Amino acid sequence: MKKIQMVDLKGQYAAIKEIVNPSIQEIIDNASFINGPMVHEFQKNLEEYLGVKHVIPCANGTDALQIAMMGLGLKPGDEVITADFTFAATVEVIALLQLTPVLVDVNPDDFNINIEAIKNAITPKTKAIVPVHLFGQCANMEAVMDLAKEHNLYVIEDNAQAIGATYTYSDGKKAKAGTISHVGSTSFFPSKNLGCYGDGGAIFTNDDTLAHTIRGIVNHGMYERYHHDVVGVNSRLDSIQAAVLNAKLPHLDAYNKSRIEAANKYDAALKDVPQIETPFRSGDADNHVFHQYTLKLKGVDRDGLVKFLNSHDIPCGVYYPIPLHKQKAYQDARYKEADFPVTNQLVKDVISLPMHTELDDEQITFITNKIKEFING
Ligand SMILES: *Cc1c(COP(=O)(O)O)cnc(C)c1O
Repeated sequence: MKKIQMVDLKGQYAAIKEIVNPSIQEIIDNASFINGPMVHEFQKNLEEYLGVKHVIPCANGTDALQIAMMGLGLKPGDEVITADFTFAATVEVIALLQLTPVLVDVNPDDFNINIEAIKNAITPKTKAIVPVHLFGQCANMEAVMDLAKEHNLYVIEDNAQAIGATYTYSDGKKAKAGTISHVGSTSFFPSKNLGCYGDGGAIFTNDDTLAHTIRGIVNHGMYERYHHDVVGVNSRLDSIQAAVLNAKLPHLDAYNKSRIEAANKYDAALKDVPQIETPFRSGDADNHVFHQYTLKLKGVDRDGLVKFLNSHDIPCGVYYPIPLHKQKAYQDARYKEADFPVTNQLVKDVISLPMHTELDDEQITFITNKIKEFING
């Protein structure tokens, strides 16, 4: 059996090597490292893939979120509601811009932001909601957008984990994750569903004015060379990363399909274990592209299971072990434990199994047998 990896990018590279290597070489030969034609090409290709009017590439997914918030003109003191159960980048940029983060609880089934919790958190100071499509599954965007409309709020989708997922509205209309709200962001960190060979990110919007504003912000607030109209940042996707992404984008649907197939096999092997809740899936099959395959354990020594799996050379992860509202940097007297029953429980119960495009049946059987061996003693 091949050694099991949490994330395995080598197989993907082998399949695109003949395209990636010469295009990287060409960038080096032409010294077109920054703002080269590859970046523009990737931007256009991604706009077409997502069905969105504007893609603005930038340096990473954290910048993408920050720049989206800057582009919307959010001001210090504005309240921004986001999920307590996610990666810290989301709340980090809110705090960095001196906006007021308002963390709310998530759903026990899909782990995404809870609509009732958002409703309860809205105040006259609320300006935006940031749903995160956690682990690759779209949040309940229809409900989020309805609330936003009712209260005149912006919505920024953190789509770092769900690129390529398709959201289906109740009337059957479909849209790609990240393009449903006013502005979306993503990350091309190597382990993401569409990853480059370094750092990268992008912002998506259908709003022409906002896209123009953001294009200036990513480039030092310049709309005309050496005229700085707004305070901006320096956040670029470099040409080499764009070349990798251009080579991978045509395979994104196939990558996501192989993740979904691996998830189906895990589900089938684990569905009859009473101490395990396999991932809940809302909506259609392509609503969840399994950035992570995350189980909920019931009455199992989770940390013992992690150790047991590791001792059999099975990597696994705990995403996320601490709620954001309990992190030193983000704890606040405003938060009451009673407001986070779901997150407080999830951090104790979740475990994420190896998930990538190269998992084979033998590996999945080995992993799931070891889990059963631990649980059944
Ligand atoms: C990865 C990730 C980010 C940040 O992306 P970087 O490219 O690493 O800056 C933001 N939000 C979520 C939910 C992520 O998973």
